Amino acid sequence: MPLLAEFENVAASSTINIALLTELKTTSSRENYENVFYLQAYRIAIVNWPNDFQPRKSLGQNFLLDENVLRKIVRAIDPKPEDHFVEIGPGMGALTKHLLEAGSHCLAVEIDQRLIPLLQERFAAYPNFKLLNQDFREVALNGFAGEHKLRLVGNIPYHITSHLVFTAFAQRALLRDMLLTVQREVAERIVATPGGKEYGILSIMSQTFAHAELLFTISPHVFRPKPEVESAVVRWQFQAPPLPIVDDDFYVAMVKAIFGQRRKTLRRSLSNFLNTETPLAFIDLQRRPETLAIAELIQLANGLAKTKDA
Ligand code: SAH
Repeated sequence: MPLLAEFENVAASSTINIALLTELKTTSSRENYENVFYLQAYRIAIVNWPNDFQPRKSLGQNFLLDENVLRKIVRAIDPKPEDHFVEIGPGMGALTKHLLEAGSHCLAVEIDQRLIPLLQERFAAYPNFKLLNQDFREVALNGFAGEHKLRLVGNIPYHITSHLVFTAFAQRALLRDMLLTVQREVAERIVATPGGKEYGILSIMSQTFAHAELLFTISPHVFRPKPEVESAVVRWQFQAPPLPIVDDDFYVAMVKAIFGQRRKTLRRSLSNFLNTETPLAFIDLQRRPETLAIAELIQLANGLAKTKDA
């Protein structure tokens, strides 16, 4: 397959981003399997990459250009016609396309106003497509939930991952599950078990209110521009906590208080929550926060919440 000839042909007749084309041309002289990847990337790029579009680092823009990886993500999502998705940061619609083609409903929430006309035009033929030009952190999902639970998906901007995840968790009653591409280190924190330094607020929230799994990692090479870090796909399936929680808000506040000062013992970090007589026979207050399993944290919060009301 004379790749370079094909590049020249298409280049002559299209409005492809010139920097990207140059990059593709240089790289395409490498081994064959790489050519196949770049040709795919190239095809997607010429169809979808708007002329003169400059990705913004401040918006965490790294676009996924590899159909194989996209298909792997879509297999993990397993979209069905009866599903209602909310997609955070659709970008140019790489994942959106697959959800819509599966017949699912999709509300795409994209903050970058420059991408809105492109998305509108690309998916104009899909009655199951809705688009919001908004910051996901300011979207109230109850306006979209109806009777069905929502499924949250996205290859999201890495610099605000925690914030996005907590926004989603605050609305977890409306959610069935969540499948996000995040930075690999963050994914490892989400699924971390007690004892290590990766175990923290993200792990605890994720594992208290959901079953969280790291499904697979993704190389930086499949994104444009290439991020500096590896990525991983994480799935959260929301479920009831392992023990009933007396007061959810109190539990979250307590976890934030003790993991905000994780080098202190429980007695010190909980000083705001404890009065001296608080009977907490079941837990040793000399322990460090990261040694506590989820069930122990729930017991602790339940114990404290009761004394708070007394
Ligand atoms: N999902 C696309 C784009 C990933 S880049 C793909 O895989 O190719 C991250 C996307 O999130 C960008 O489109 C960016 O504009 C958007 N974004 C960044 N901050 C956002 C926010 N707060 N709310 C919604 N979208 C946001």
